[in-house]
Amino acid sequence: MELISVIVPCLNEEEAIEIFYRTFFDTVEMFHIPVDYELIFVDDGSTDASLNLMRSIAKYDRRVHYISFSRNFGKEGAMLAGLKAARGDYVAIMDVDLQDPPRLIEQMYNKIKEGGYDCIAAKRSDRKGEPPLRSFMADRFYSFVNKISDTEIVRGARDFRLMSRRMVNSVLELGEYNRFSKGIFSWVGYNTAWISYDNIERSAGKTKWSLKKLIDYSLDGIVAFSTKPLAIASVLGIACLVVALIFILVIIVKTLIWGDPVAGYPSLICVILLIGGLELFTIGIVGQYLAKLYLEVKNRPKYITKETDIRS
Ligand code: UDP
Ligand code: MG
Repeated sequence: MELISVIVPCLNEEEAIEIFYRTFFDTVEMFHIPVDYELIFVDDGSTDASLNLMRSIAKYDRRVHYISFSRNFGKEGAMLAGLKAARGDYVAIMDVDLQDPPRLIEQMYNKIKEGGYDCIAAKRSDRKGEPPLRSFMADRFYSFVNKISDTEIVRGARDFRLMSRRMVNSVLELGEYNRFSKGIFSWVGYNTAWISYDNIERSAGKTKWSLKKLIDYSLDGIVAFSTKPLAIASVLGIACLVVALIFILVIIVKTLIWGDPVAGYPSLICVILLIGGLELFTIGIVGQYLAKLYLEVKNRPKYITKETDIRS
């Protein structure tokens, strides 16, 4: 029988883990597909009882495994650890809060079995139940990143997807430190089919994404999949240079014709401030890339496993 591995990243999800576990297996038992399941909980440095719950579930259910990190490394690290540990012929990634409905797995499996696709991914058709500001910012992020990047990042895409073994192996070949999975899944290629579904509210607990985390995540997405901001910096520089050259010419001609009365202090300050601001802005862009490069070069592990029941 074929095996589907399901990776479930969890950060402080004591309220949601058991509901997920029960709902997941209740749902897949109703499926009419001949597969076995392996559930891998990844504890991303939870400070609540999440790890205890995982440990006890894994003890009495051999289909369930867990990996626990020494601290919070972020969902990207958790997904990577899960992908590395998964042994399945197919691998799925799901949130523990049931916002990714397990019932879709049967449909995904059947579709992937039809052939022609290596990945069946889910996307939300709306963002109901989310703060309007967050939806708005997410929307702006997707249009911006798609404008400046060659890799398409699908609007509303979830990390929820079922991938073939060969696609997972390709994803694992990308060893970068700053992982932005939505970009990586698209970058590795293969054919992806999309399934839309209506947004579902969390089963229990609260969202683990603070505004700061989301902003960092968007910056990662931009810096990891496009170098266009660097080009923007040079274009701005050239534009300033052209304007400056024109001004120099105008001033020389004016001085030759009308002499040189000292004036224009306010405009001088404006220009200095403008150029200074532009300079800092573009250095900031360069700095973003430099910072990522620095982390990449250090080549630190993307996560540290504290405890797991998986023998390698
Ligand atoms: N998560 C994680 N590490 C983090 C943040 C989130 O493993 O640093 C997990 C979280 O436990 C959940 C999933 O990632 O299973 C999605 O998080 P959440 O539901 O809070 O995000 P939202 O659905 O609100 O975008
Ligand atoms: Mg969620």
